[in-house]
Amino acid sequence: MADELQQWFRDRVGADFGIELTDGQLDQYEAYYRLLVEWNEKMNLTGITERGAVYEKHFYDSLTLALIPEALQAASLADIGAGAGFPSIPFKIAMPAIEVTIVDSLAKRIRFLQTVVDELDLQHVRLVHGRAEDIGRLSDHRDRYDLVTARAVARLAGLSELCLPFVKRGGCFVSMKGSDNADEIQESGKAIRLLRSELKYTRELSLPLENSARQLIVIDKLAATPKEYPRKAGIPLKQPLI
Ligand code: SAM
Repeated sequence: MADELQQWFRDRVGADFGIELTDGQLDQYEAYYRLLVEWNEKMNLTGITERGAVYEKHFYDSLTLALIPEALQAASLADIGAGAGFPSIPFKIAMPAIEVTIVDSLAKRIRFLQTVVDELDLQHVRLVHGRAEDIGRLSDHRDRYDLVTARAVARLAGLSELCLPFVKRGGCFVSMKGSDNADEIQESGKAIRLLRSELKYTRELSLPLENSARQLIVIDKLAATPKEYPRKAGIPLKQPLI
């Protein structure tokens, strides 16, 4: 039976995102929470371990993606630099039909995620170990995804070069940030243009208990990625296209 925190989470997700979570989905979030805390003792996955904080700052925060209509319509999602699985694993639990690909350059985080996928019995989740600059050049992944996400990975100009090559024409990239990204958005105009994309809109919100501000930045992909991008691994973040 759902305890008080799980009931709170179910109510908020229903009211704020219009998603009705089943008992089975609540069990999956709880199993994910337990694995996160257990593995965090052996490796650095997250600084947030208090149960209520994980539900709000990782699970609820990841689900804010559902405020973006394009995300709800997507059949495929690539999450770049997902770390311990955010935002894609909480989103996948809530939206089981979506196909998820996770790319992360740290092998041990991919090992953790493989355990999460196995224990939660998540279907159609592909885990790719590598740098986004290299993986985004492979035909399996380039210009392929309806939706690409990144939370807390890098500043938007460099991040755009890591993420936009994965987005198919007509799809979008949602960058999940804290508040006040006006400078970053301004600075990223050139990179977004060179990657044949355009800023569509931003969505502001705040977390329900902690009240800290968040911004979702939605960027549309207009055409296929030019062959010179992404540049060699390391270059996009060191020398962003600004
Ligand atoms: N998105 C997660 C979150 O919100 O909790 C993790 C954020 S963590 C600060 C950044 C992650 O990006 C790390 O797991 C790191 O290994 C990964 N990363 C950094 N640069 C990368 C690159 N070039 N390609 C793939 N993954 C990368």
